[in-house]
Amino acid sequence: MKSCSNCFKILPATTEFFYRKLSGLQSRCKACNAEVVRGYLRRKRHPWGQTERRKRKASVPAVYEFTAANKVNVDQDTTDSRH
Ligand SMILES: [Zn+2]
Repeated sequence: MKSCSNCFKILPATTEFFYRKLSGLQSRCKACNAEVVRGYLRRKRHPWGQTERRKRKASVPAVYEFTAANKVNVDQDTTDSRH
């Protein structure tokens, strides 16, 4: 048996639950590995990892409305903090 270094689940030390590396098996289970890869693709803006990003885009118009309504204040704030 082998414990995953990420989710700490105890799983059989077989290639069914862990990916193989040069010497033995990886310390992260396959499920956690998939999470890591997904996060990597999202950061790289790879098409495969963009599902979450599209969801977030839906909230953008609300932000634009807010900044437009508070335009004077926002401009003053950003000129000070930009330097
Ligand atoms: Zn795991």
